[in-house]
Amino acid sequence: MSRHFENPVRMTDPVVAEALANEKKRQQDQIELIASENIVSRAVLDALGHEMTNKTLEGYPGNRFHGGGQFVDVVEQAAIDRARELFGCDYANVQPHSGSQANLAVFFLLLKPGDRVLSLDLAAGGHLSHGLKANLSGRWFEPHHYGVDAESEVIDCDALEKLAEEIRPKLLIAGGSAYPREIDFERMGQIARKVGAHFHVDMAHIAGLVAAGVHPSPFPHADIVTCTTTKTLRGPRGGLILTNNEDWFKRLQSAVFPGVQGSIHSQVLAAKAVCLAEALTDEFKDYGAQVKANAAKLAETLQSRGLRIVSGGTDTHLVLVDLSPKGITGKRAEVVLEKANITTNKNAIPNDSTRPPEWVGLRLGVSAATTRGMKEAEFDQLANVIADLIEAEAAGDTGATILRCKASVAALCKSFLIYPT
Ligand SMILES: *Cc1c(COP(=O)(O)O)cnc(C)c1O
Repeated sequence: MSRHFENPVRMTDPVVAEALANEKKRQQDQIELIASENIVSRAVLDALGHEMTNKTLEGYPGNRFHGGGQFVDVVEQAAIDRARELFGCDYANVQPHSGSQANLAVFFLLLKPGDRVLSLDLAAGGHLSHGLKANLSGRWFEPHHYGVDAESEVIDCDALEKLAEEIRPKLLIAGGSAYPREIDFERMGQIARKVGAHFHVDMAHIAGLVAAGVHPSPFPHADIVTCTTTKTLRGPRGGLILTNNEDWFKRLQSAVFPGVQGSIHSQVLAAKAVCLAEALTDEFKDYGAQVKANAAKLAETLQSRGLRIVSGGTDTHLVLVDLSPKGITGKRAEVVLEKANITTNKNAIPNDSTRPPEWVGLRLGVSAATTRGMKEAEFDQLANVIADLIEAEAAGDTGATILRCKASVAALCKSFLIYPT
């Protein structure tokens, strides 16, 4: 008889089971400094692995296209209520399967093919779903980009205002994936209104910081807000759309379904509800404050070791290092750090090459290691390890340094276990 309902994956699929076990061990043994990552709670994992995954539903709570939805309705309604409370807005759609799909639904709601969109340049920290030519958003709309000031490497709102008056976009987008500074949502909202644009804030990277109250909220300045539930918000992979605009909300619901998506991911909605409740706690506020303190310490120590930090520091979870003075690429830094079990990614910096292999930026984010419990002392140590490895790579003599740094990383990982049983 088939043991379909009994056998765990380790008995049925050795290939996948081994990869799963190896991934778990990798997360335990490496320090995760990729800025878009985090480590979810056991409770979020419980929801993600739940039988609720079997339930197919289209539509919204109380108005479904299939029967048997009463318990999924409970979790979706909980996610909606918690998102509204957490971010202080009137309406929330919690169904987007990802941050990119949340953005797509917003474009479907507000734009027609050929409409102008003004967003942060990719090299200045923007996101590919904001009008990259290789993305649907860049093909179906007319993307224009603002950058950062050449000196300060911070968004220059006066320059942005001039550009917006020239372009007169239908949609102005704030937010990005590698922008380490606070964004002035109030001023950007004023600019949008002045030029007759809708103002969309994509707070994917900073949603957890906004939730914890350590970054200004896009409300009441934004017309519409999207985010991921991963990254600093520390939930499952997925997206949210938030607004105060009652007229838009009805159309937004149909822009998500059936506009750009079909059935919901029921078990992910349960996990979103769990992570949003976690984000409403005082413990989460402490995490948010620690994230900011850790990022500041990381930037400060790297700087004291002679590394150039883009924009001179950080207001968020994210630190962007310019390796050009050291004469190495972001890729080379990423590879040498990984040899010592520190995971990062190469990144463009303002005015960088358009070819990723030539990028001279290294993006570091502190959220995942902060979730593990690391504080300023550990980030000071980590920054010194990172600086040692970059110096060794630049000098072309890495052997002994990698061995030594790998040992420090292993000791840190042992002191800050994840999912201990
Ligand atoms: C990560 C990110 C997204 C995309 O989210 P996915 O869930 O990876 O699709 C969109 N916008 C910004 C600013 C992001 O940082």
